[in-house]
Amino acid sequence: MASSCSTTGSPGSPKFEKIPGTSIRVLRSVPSVRRWRKPLLLDHRSVALVPTMGALHEGHISLIRAACRENHHVVVSIYVNPAQFGIAEDLDSYPKTWEADVAKLVALDREMADDGGSYLGRVSAVFAPTTGEMYPGGFPGQEVNSKGSFVTITPVGEVLEGKTRPTFFRGVATVCMKLFNIVQPEKVYFGQKDVQQTVVIRRMVRDFAMPIEVVIGGTVRDQKDGLALSSRNVYLGERRRGVATVLWRALRAAEEGYGMGMAGRKEILGEAEKVVREVEEEQGRLGPKERVRFEVDYISLADPDTMEEVGVVDRRRGAILSGAVKMLRVEEPKEGEDLGYEGGPEVRLIDNIILKPLE
Ligand code: AMP
Repeated sequence: MASSCSTTGSPGSPKFEKIPGTSIRVLRSVPSVRRWRKPLLLDHRSVALVPTMGALHEGHISLIRAACRENHHVVVSIYVNPAQFGIAEDLDSYPKTWEADVAKLVALDREMADDGGSYLGRVSAVFAPTTGEMYPGGFPGQEVNSKGSFVTITPVGEVLEGKTRPTFFRGVATVCMKLFNIVQPEKVYFGQKDVQQTVVIRRMVRDFAMPIEVVIGGTVRDQKDGLALSSRNVYLGERRRGVATVLWRALRAAEEGYGMGMAGRKEILGEAEKVVREVEEEQGRLGPKERVRFEVDYISLADPDTMEEVGVVDRRRGAILSGAVKMLRVEEPKEGEDLGYEGGPEVRLIDNIILKPLE
């Protein structure tokens, strides 16, 4: 980590860490963010926050670009938040790629410096706190009944992802409340990719009267096959990566049904189920050295504001099609096969499509 940060400061001024070759500060403590933030408030400079867990990819970068177009200063937070991982989940193995993340921010900074007029501001700071800084009361509990200072947004945080991952949105809302209080941004940027998260955050900001605008950026996908970019895709390996588009293809089929005039839940989701069955059958015909196994956790057709399931889509409101699929471990690796990061553990992928109002 030390190699990609330098410490500078004129005599008498507090020293601060910077990403070399840029003016991006690396802030690690709450007081250092407050010191950085205060003069910007007095100067009426707008500040935006893009919260991430690192392992940056084009999905993150597109949010950072959007934030830099619309704000004078952008803070990117990089923090793998333990409270949003269940006890049996991948907190320990979650990819941590600080050097590569810094390299991406440097490249982006150069590109923006060369760009005449598209951006109002630049990434001014990376906030990369320790867990001690974020959770002064101690390591946050990961059990459903853990005690602590948590923010819960229900019932929207209890359905869909919240059903399979009962502590997930509590962790997300809690860490975002902390980040928002620390950075005090005017705008925060989140990705459509995690659609239920956007609904939870919007609800939190509304219900706690936080003076923040929530901006949602579109999902960035692999140009070739449409798979939504995700930090977890590195776990897949080539074999599973090829089949991981099943959810996206299923959602697209359901979207087409809606576009052709379907409104009933059974009809629309039936289109998605057909695609899932086809892929299952295709894989079922292969042997264990070739095939990929997966389990669909859910495919949902929900109200855009509450994420509650709908029986019939109100064409004036539209709906959210979303789903989650578990890509199971490869049963029998071929000799020398690259199974993915950390030996290719089970990976849970999510995706969604917004069905826009048609009337
Ligand atoms: P994460 O690091 O996974 O917590 O994601 C940080 C932010 O990036 C969240 O607001 C995500 O919704 C967003 N994000 C992740 N993947 C994508 C993607 N493929 N397209 C757009 N935004 C994304």
